[in-house]
Amino acid sequence: MAKRTLTHATQLLSDVAKFAESDAGRDNKTFLSVLRSNFPGLDIHVFETKGRRITPVESPVAIEKFADEIDVNTCLSDRHEVEIGSGNKATLLVPVLVNNSASMLVVAKRRPRWRANMEEFVTLIRAYGNILSVVQASERDTLTGLFNRRMLDRRLPEMMSGLRSPRRRTSDPVSAHVAILDIDRFKKINDKYGHLYGDEVLLLFGGLMKQSFRSSDILIRYGGEEFVVVLTDTTLANCEMVLDRFREKVESYWFPNIGHVTISVGATRIGKQVLSATVLDQTDQALYYAKGSGRNRVCIYENLVKYGRIKVQVATDDARKLFDEKRQLSTRRKSRSRDRRASRPGSASSH
Ligand code: GH3
Ligand code: MG
Ligand code: MG
Repeated sequence: MAKRTLTHATQLLSDVAKFAESDAGRDNKTFLSVLRSNFPGLDIHVFETKGRRITPVESPVAIEKFADEIDVNTCLSDRHEVEIGSGNKATLLVPVLVNNSASMLVVAKRRPRWRANMEEFVTLIRAYGNILSVVQASERDTLTGLFNRRMLDRRLPEMMSGLRSPRRRTSDPVSAHVAILDIDRFKKINDKYGHLYGDEVLLLFGGLMKQSFRSSDILIRYGGEEFVVVLTDTTLANCEMVLDRFREKVESYWFPNIGHVTISVGATRIGKQVLSATVLDQTDQALYYAKGSGRNRVCIYENLVKYGRIKVQVATDDARKLFDEKRQLSTRRKSRSRDRRASRPGSASSH
């Protein structure tokens, strides 16, 4: 019996590890359905916690229905389970701890005449939080605390496929936009003041980004002195304005011991591109143009193309890569169905 329980728990942990590492692991609704399918004896609800805001993953249900403010606050601040009531009627609050702070709250109540292993339930939620912590840490830059390149490489294709095409076709639709921000002549700063002071500039620069962009924008240290911002739900014109305001803010900021620093920025809209590499290539082309035309400026890929400053070449690259991918796929399919035909009884004698 003990062996069977252990095997079951190990299987459950292995499933939750796979789930947390996958992109679905970022979807809290899927987390809720994983819990429900593993613990049918419990009535389970999951809430996201951001500061004082506690919102249900699945509406409409309010946390007040299950627990009062004191119990919820105790659970979140002590970062520990809280049991309300006792015996079969007890309600359990379990925090999901990601890097030591409660990012979610799970509420569970036993269903009458059902059995549920509460210890296993709590262990599973703890394991999920631990795995998410490791995944999140691996997507952070240790110097600035911003996301790192790994995160962008994983999430950009996902974001591109999740974008809905605009309802009204306008010349400047609301969409997501990507910008690369590159510190000008950063090598000189390192050479003149040393690497440690260079690091200090990067750290302060990351802080300026955090202060300046919206919480829904995604901030990334892309590598060295290059940063990326994914601006969500905005127009190209607004994106240019926001980026230029940030460029001015950096220009006027006094970096201790160093003085003034400037940045060059290249940006593009996430729209018709098929590959995420194309989006980054377009921002890179715009950045390259900004550097070549005097630095300390923001250049938008679409405008550079519109005014004939740069030529479009990536569309054909997209088409070629897509064609190659499709051809490889159909070759693989054909050879699989050939293999299947060959393995059917009697097929060898048909020719
Ligand atoms: P440009 O205006 O053309 O961008 O010139 P730049 O000097 O900023 O660009 P370049 O690519 O020539 O040099 C980037 C420098 O950034 C070189 C490298 O030593 C430095 N660097 C990269 N990563 C780090 C880091 O983590 N810390 C510090 N201090 N320096 C770094
Ligand atoms: Mg630079
Ligand atoms: Mg650079």
